Amino acid sequence: MKKNHKYIFVIGGVMSGVGKGIASASIGKVLQSRGYKINLVKVDPYLNVDAGTMNPTEHGETFVLNSGLETDQDMGNYERFLGRDLPEENYLTSGMVYKSVIERERNLGYKGKCVEAIPHIRNEIIDRLEAAASINGSEISVIEIGGTVGDYQNIMFIEAARVMYAKDPDSVFFIMVSYLPVPSKVGEMKTKPTQNAIRQLNSYGVQPHMVIGRSSEVLDKRRKDKIAMQCNIRPDYVISAPDIESIYDVPINFEKDNVASIILSHFNLKTKRNNKLAEDGLKKWRRFANSAKKAKKELNIAIVGKYFDTGDFVLSDAYISVIEAIKFSAYAKGVKPNLHWLSSHDFESGKVNIKELDKYDGILVPGGFGKSGIEGKIKVIKYARENKIPYFGLCYGMQLMIVEYARHKAGIAGANTREISNGKGDMVIDIMPEQVERLKNKDYGGTMRLGKYPAYIKKGTIARKSYKKEMVNERHRHRYEVNPEYIERLEESGLIFSGVSPDERLMEIAELSIKEHPFMVGTQFHPELTARPLSPHPLFTEFIKASVLYKNCK
Ligand code: GLN
Repeated sequence: MKKNHKYIFVIGGVMSGVGKGIASASIGKVLQSRGYKINLVKVDPYLNVDAGTMNPTEHGETFVLNSGLETDQDMGNYERFLGRDLPEENYLTSGMVYKSVIERERNLGYKGKCVEAIPHIRNEIIDRLEAAASINGSEISVIEIGGTVGDYQNIMFIEAARVMYAKDPDSVFFIMVSYLPVPSKVGEMKTKPTQNAIRQLNSYGVQPHMVIGRSSEVLDKRRKDKIAMQCNIRPDYVISAPDIESIYDVPINFEKDNVASIILSHFNLKTKRNNKLAEDGLKKWRRFANSAKKAKKELNIAIVGKYFDTGDFVLSDAYISVIEAIKFSAYAKGVKPNLHWLSSHDFESGKVNIKELDKYDGILVPGGFGKSGIEGKIKVIKYARENKIPYFGLCYGMQLMIVEYARHKAGIAGANTREISNGKGDMVIDIMPEQVERLKNKDYGGTMRLGKYPAYIKKGTIARKSYKKEMVNERHRHRYEVNPEYIERLEESGLIFSGVSPDERLMEIAELSIKEHPFMVGTQFHPELTARPLSPHPLFTEFIKASVLYKNCK
């Protein structure tokens, strides 16, 4: 194991969906605020090799790292809480682990041995966790094991954690994030499911040092003492984590409950002072969390997509980075964003009158795939353009902004994207030659244009005014691009490509002149992926500024 590196494993008890990801991110945050370089690692027990092939309305957003790896939405929370980019070594799935072991076996890498889950899969997991620990000068890894104790799927990961503890008990700390129900008929909080979850973990040879008790209410002393007594845990190591309004308050609450002090003392480590990472404790973070509460003036932003049969809960998961990016920029400007999820189908069918859009201060079309609801989105974009409502298009939202412009302003009536028209009409958005082969071979996984690419930002544009620099790097996830054959015609009719790849082949940002429209901007990349609480994304901030102005002038 890497010398002097510390490992914290976060394991779920009782049930999933209680905020283990936010708890892990917050543990990372409070330790970072003590001056330590923190690694946050997510382990997903499913057999998908990455999260790119999963349906976001079922599994939540696919978060793309700089490297292009498509990961779970928790990685987004990790980056936002730590305020830094994470390397791809910090994301593991069972699929990845099994794939590399099986490939090694095929290459005779095990030299004729029988290859088995124990030790080979387990050791591959340990190797990967150690690789993640050694990659970026980090001192402490917080490793979240997906799923709940008792799942068959995550047993190998817990076993790997146990072995790491057995090798070096002073360098490993176990935390269980568990759920404590308050049944309405009983009227009091019950600890039994958590006790049972801890016993189940014990049966794998792991004793948690700390329990984070998630519940609708605060854990009182009686419950803490009970868990402590029944499960061999110190009562002050049982942390109460009741439901709260904002996830960004969780690190602040953990700090109050001494989570960082407890962990550091277990490792025999001290708070580092006068250290850049420590960011004067959580001072800046607190200021940000307060700005969220202080923002009173409301801004109504419409998000137009094709979803909606999925229910609000899932929606907020599928677009979490977009939602958070809007919030960061809005809070920085002192406004409270109200997000309205509008179905593009309703505009397409005419069920909802397009003039309904007048109610909103800004319109955003996020990324998406496929045919469904497309003409509705184009109708919305046209309305936003003609009525000078601030519009921000992300990826598909940019491609459709260009299709709309081509059809109605550049005289290319048959303009479309190949994704929906199969080549009928004018393909202003088209597929790159290398992608054609991939699709033919059904080579879908991890083959889009993914991850960080540089873009040159042209002078005198909204993009340049926002970024205030010439070169930027942004993360991508798409198969289709602006067709070079139409660029000249689009430009002649007034569309500005304000961001382009360094070789000028790929169009990365499209916008209308500020003289024509206060904010009509689309990005081929996903700026939401790099928006952070303490450094909001400049394009989102410019969109919010334009929306505030638009609201004030209404
Ligand atoms: N469907 C479009 C493409 O593949 C846009 C993708 C997206 O919005 N992420 O290019």
